[in-house]
Amino acid sequence: MSTDWEDAKCRASDFDLFFSQGKNQIRKAKNICRGLNMDGERACPILEQCFIFATFEEPQYFGIWGASTPDERQRFRSIYKAA
Ligand code: SF4
Repeated sequence: MSTDWEDAKCRASDFDLFFSQGKNQIRKAKNICRGLNMDGERACPILEQCFIFATFEEPQYFGIWGASTPDERQRFRSIYKAA
């Protein structure tokens, strides 16, 4: 699956937000991915591809990718391995 990173919403956002440990920052970053901020934005057009990339294709162990934390992605990997 190819991913057009040019469309990534985080490109126009505060990138540090996506690599912060703070709960509020994590929530804000996830909301950017999902388009849930108060500014009426839509979800990131490559949210699904981003999640698959960071969870399975090239596992990312830091930061918010596809509206998920590293721990959440690890849980997905464990579930799929066990299945
Ligand atoms: S889904 Fe991925 S590419 Fe899109 S804003 Fe979130 S982290 Fe960035």
